[in-house]
Amino acid sequence: MRVIIHLDIDCFYAQAEIVQDESLRGKPVGVQQNQTISTCNYEARARGLGKMVNHVEARKLIPDLVVIQSHMELYREESAKIFERLNHICSDCLVEISGIDEAFVDVTERVNQMLSLGNEHVFYGHSVPTSHKKYSEDDLWLVRGSEIAHQVRETILIECGYQLSAGVANNKLLSKLVTSLNKPFGQTTLFQLGVNEFLNPLMLRKIPKIGRITSEKLFKECGYEKIRDVTFDSNALSKLTRAIGETTALYLQSACNGVDDSKVIPKGLKKSFMSEFTFLPVSIKSTALLTEKINILCEDLSQRLVRDISKNQRTPTRVIVRYTTVANNGKERAYRSVSSAKDSLSITGKMSVGEIHKVVKELSFETLKNRLSQEVDYHELFRMSVGLYDFSKINGVTLDEMFNRVAQKRSISETLDSDYKLALSLQKEENNLELAMMKRRRTEKIPKSKIVQNNQTQTSLLRFIKK
Ligand SMILES: [Mg+2]
Repeated sequence: MRVIIHLDIDCFYAQAEIVQDESLRGKPVGVQQNQTISTCNYEARARGLGKMVNHVEARKLIPDLVVIQSHMELYREESAKIFERLNHICSDCLVEISGIDEAFVDVTERVNQMLSLGNEHVFYGHSVPTSHKKYSEDDLWLVRGSEIAHQVRETILIECGYQLSAGVANNKLLSKLVTSLNKPFGQTTLFQLGVNEFLNPLMLRKIPKIGRITSEKLFKECGYEKIRDVTFDSNALSKLTRAIGETTALYLQSACNGVDDSKVIPKGLKKSFMSEFTFLPVSIKSTALLTEKINILCEDLSQRLVRDISKNQRTPTRVIVRYTTVANNGKERAYRSVSSAKDSLSITGKMSVGEIHKVVKELSFETLKNRLSQEVDYHELFRMSVGLYDFSKINGVTLDEMFNRVAQKRSISETLDSDYKLALSLQKEENNLELAMMKRRRTEKIPKSKIVQNNQTQTSLLRFIKK
């Protein structure tokens, strides 16, 4: 038995704008990209506006529509922030971020643990079948899943201010399809008993990877339009194979029956670390208070960073400070972000939490200060975050490695006190060299392979060994 939760941030771009400017809440809001309204909130949808509508048409339909030009950088950062939170909340689960506003979480292990503890279970949200109360053993896994989905959504709403919808099922396909049933801000659990009832009326093109061309072909050649056309036809597989080939036919037939074995695969390492603060109702009246707030953000960051450094052998090289300002009337808000120069953050793998904290804090404050003195007063700050970006691998050699090298080359079994001192100085030299090479590579934009290896370190090592 598996338990998969699919999460989707409701009308993400529109919601991101509303989170930045609360005065928009309750109004119909559309986000414009080029000539079209690419996303709109549910207030606008209730009045008939769809996705990807020309902005002139949209304004005709809803004269009081608030149209906002898209801010992709903001959406990316908000997305990173939300999913970083998700990763944190679900650190014992598998999390796969899918696009800017969706994620799958495999919570099977956590459910297993909850079941072994045997606490009372509570079901959250909606279900298919609608009035399902007699839970089988397998159903109880999904009931626990609904509890986790609820907690995750509540936490993200409280901590990040975003509404998410969720689907809970025993595979990725079903969890994704069922999410849309109770949008916005709803969650739906699909029990085994309801799988066919739920899938049959859906159009075939709702199935991932079945695009417009394939679905048109299926209609023309097989007369299939809905999932039930496939599941009710005993000759479906041979018809499908003739129309779309064996591989796709097999995939489609399994999908129509709610079968999907694909795994939740966490993708890569996090590209940034971010910590955020909302100042209201506290107003920032002095540099000292601002420093104190930045201090708190950086303390949180440096602790997380130390864990990441030892786990992933990398350090960030840039700080980005984001802030929202609020005008005197308390309503108008503007989003800004200010970045430190490339490579301006110098953290090494050997720094302590305290040292990292100091470096991050100083650079964040300096980065922000340059901007603040130009255009905003401290008391206008509404929300602020500090983020660490542009990670680079630590190439440096550890003391242990260098010590072993020295001892090996010496070809003597006993270790000397002087070996330690020498290993230390060689390590320092080599690490500095790595750092210098890394920086040169960056500034000159030349690939690693093109750099002629500097043999200075080996020379000094040899010099010692020959002695
Ligand atoms: Mg969405």
